[in-house]
Amino acid sequence: MRFKPKPFTKPVKFKCKFCLDCCKGRHVYLTLKDIKRLIDAGKDPQEFLTISIEGNKIRFVLSVREWDLGCVFQDPETGLCTVHPHRPLICRIYPFMVSKKPLGVEGEKPIETKDGRFWLYYDENCPGINNKEGEEITPEQILKLGIEFERELEETTIDNVLDIL
Ligand code: SF4
Ligand code: SF4
Repeated sequence: MRFKPKPFTKPVKFKCKFCLDCCKGRHVYLTLKDIKRLIDAGKDPQEFLTISIEGNKIRFVLSVREWDLGCVFQDPETGLCTVHPHRPLICRIYPFMVSKKPLGVEGEKPIETKDGRFWLYYDENCPGINNKEGEEITPEQILKLGIEFERELEETTIDNVLDIL
């Protein structure tokens, strides 16, 4: 399932419907803290850590299963996350997204912060969005997580990661 961005400018209700679609075929970036939290939970980095070279940057991403591109932590039978309490920050942000650039979607507008300008979106394809039984999620809540993610990603250098392996 592809992320279909819709500008997130006012609170929306969200409750996961466990359609099991969002943990497959995605590039899940890991921060230093995510890697440490998963190791502390007993997970072997050889099983979940993949290096991705992007231009002149080295990023760390969650490994996927070869046969269906599902995240290695997704139970292939139930589709549920087997590390839910320890899941990466970006998985906590989804189905929302915080971008440092506009995506060119009608209705988008930036939020100005002391950390810069950010554009927020949610995934229109996620059936948990606008779920009347859901919890109300505000742009401010997600922005806070997005800024935390940007900061954590900056600390995620190869040297820092090697120190905790
Ligand atoms: S796509 Fe949305 S509803 Fe489906 S499993 Fe993911 S978060 Fe839940
Ligand atoms: S860590 Fe859990 S929530 Fe994140 S992609 Fe993997 S299975 Fe999904």
